[in-house]
Amino acid sequence: MDLEKTILRRVGEAIARFRMIREGDRVAVGVSGGKDSLTLLEALLLLQKRAPIHFTVCAFTIEQGKFLRPIEPVGAYLRERGVDWTYVEDRPSVKLLTEQPDHGCDLCSRFRRRAVYEVARKLGANVIAFGHTADDFCESFLRNAMFTGRISALPASTWSSKREFRLIRPLVYVTEDLTRAFAHSLGAPVIPCGCSQKTGTVRRSLRDVLAELEKDHPFLKETLLAAMGKVETGRLLDTRFLDLDGCNEEAHSVTNPQEFVTLDR
Ligand code: SF4
Repeated sequence: MDLEKTILRRVGEAIARFRMIREGDRVAVGVSGGKDSLTLLEALLLLQKRAPIHFTVCAFTIEQGKFLRPIEPVGAYLRERGVDWTYVEDRPSVKLLTEQPDHGCDLCSRFRRRAVYEVARKLGANVIAFGHTADDFCESFLRNAMFTGRISALPASTWSSKREFRLIRPLVYVTEDLTRAFAHSLGAPVIPCGCSQKTGTVRRSLRDVLAELEKDHPFLKETLLAAMGKVETGRLLDTRFLDLDGCNEEAHSVTNPQEFVTLDR
């Protein structure tokens, strides 16, 4: 498999399907120091050269005090490649970690969101790209269904609350086995985040369950992603979408199972 070609095709498919990037956009990529965001940045830089539209790409990293090693090698790597990279230490986040070391993801994400918007504003960006992968979408989908009682995952493309930024996740169709291999092939320095080492979390359990099932069903994530794009509302329990008076043909249609998986294998 040509790794670069596969990743670019999947990223290109996501960008086109969800109209993630448009003429004249300035895209700020959140680089966390991990394999996923480095893959995303590289993919967008490559697509920028080939795309029929003009857009610019810059990168930023927010330090929240969670990197397990100094981030500088990532900076050196990006500068060497001519990437416009900005590093910001978010003091409130670092303070939060010192004062409340056991704070949860909600608080951490809220602090990060504020810092991300601040830096994107300074960079003149109108689009912010995040490195969430197909694995993240699948885990989020299962976690929501099993632990919060909702059918939902992550938005592939959405807006910040005041529509100041378009928030995009172009790796929605890219699995982490691909980002791992791609980041390795680039020779990119990967800096782990302390949270990635956590055990005993729901996320970790779901990862393990998926990995176990994938031994017999290698295209499980592709199928889950296809399912997220093919909702049969008439076969769920949300009465807002049910045809209780029998007037809506579509609510009775049965989907051809072969339509479920559309991604290349
Ligand atoms: S996993 Fe860690 S870095 Fe991510 S939101 Fe939760 S606390 Fe923050």
